[in-house]
Amino acid sequence: MLQAPPAEPGMREDEIDTPALVIDLDAFEHNLDTMAALLAPTEAKLRAHAKTHKSPVVAKLQMARGAVGQCVQKVAEAEALAWGGVPDVLVTNQVVGPRKLARLAALSRICEVGLCADDEAQVVLAEQAAEAAGIRLKMLVEIDVGMARGGIEAGPPAVALAERIAASKHLIFGGLQAYHGSAQHIREPEKRAGAIAEAVARTRRTMEQLAQRGLSCAIVGGAGTGTFRHEAASGVYTEIQAGSYAFMDVDYAKNDDAPPFRHALFVATTVMSRAAPGIVVVDCGHKGVAVDSGMPGVWERPGLRFAGASDEHGKIMVEDAAAPALGERLRLVPGHCDPTVDRYDWYVGVRKGRVECLWPIAARGGMA
Ligand code: PLP
Ligand code: MN
Repeated sequence: MLQAPPAEPGMREDEIDTPALVIDLDAFEHNLDTMAALLAPTEAKLRAHAKTHKSPVVAKLQMARGAVGQCVQKVAEAEALAWGGVPDVLVTNQVVGPRKLARLAALSRICEVGLCADDEAQVVLAEQAAEAAGIRLKMLVEIDVGMARGGIEAGPPAVALAERIAASKHLIFGGLQAYHGSAQHIREPEKRAGAIAEAVARTRRTMEQLAQRGLSCAIVGGAGTGTFRHEAASGVYTEIQAGSYAFMDVDYAKNDDAPPFRHALFVATTVMSRAAPGIVVVDCGHKGVAVDSGMPGVWERPGLRFAGASDEHGKIMVEDAAAPALGERLRLVPGHCDPTVDRYDWYVGVRKGRVECLWPIAARGGMA
């Protein structure tokens, strides 16, 4: 059930019911503008990853600044975006299961859709769904460029799969998906650049072999917030799939040459107990903020350290600061923004201490 919004436009920030997911609109707009400016001189366009924000509103703001469309990780996210008016959605993933494929095929009547394959069996399933729906589905070949998650081997195996797609009456060969996830958080810049150089080499080699068979790639997609400058400069990638850049989390800020984005996403929380010495407890535990990539930061409060999360309690150690008062508000900076967003129904957009807007997080939830 959609929860009641925790705030109303015009309220002061300290009147927002907590815990709540807050966007600092100035920082957020800075991030969107910065990405647009960084990509403008390159040949690559942004197709931002909506698994971060899960919102057609954010998607439209990115597209107003030049993004060509959105990436999603699953059909339920594609539906939320398409139903919200986003015109071009790519599932950067395999989709297995006739019901999911039928839903995706149905969406292709209201927007441009695509999906990925790394196995012929997925091609057969997509072909059946497209035929049953009387449409053609765009399918990219996902190649493994170093992450060893999904992705068929680059070179001849990828070319054979592309030829299989291109030969289908019900499918359109859309290009290559070449994302290197494990490179994003390599802390050292040279090592990170080296990982992407290898990804670019595998991708280029596959494109050349495809060209020899008469196949061209309308899309060569990949890259995230940690590496996009390399893919964008490669001359090989046409689409950049960064997602976290819009919000920035603690984990990305730990890269040695942290990308030039500001923290724009916060969980507003309230101190609800100070019974234990040296500790205050806030009303946000790991049901309110993701801890899979480490604990959240406490925004602009040096000396306070978020040390542990239980379901609905967050424990903050008071190390070298005055203890915050009971009822005092703190802002947490999520360790990982994507799963934190998934825990909320609403974004509360804040500017200069006032609530400016509320946006529903339309694609949240576990459904695939
Ligand atoms: N593209 C794909 C396919 C992904 O799975 C991800 C994240 O895991 C991204 C892009 C980049 O996301 P971010 O910029 O949030 O790291
Ligand atoms: Mn993530």
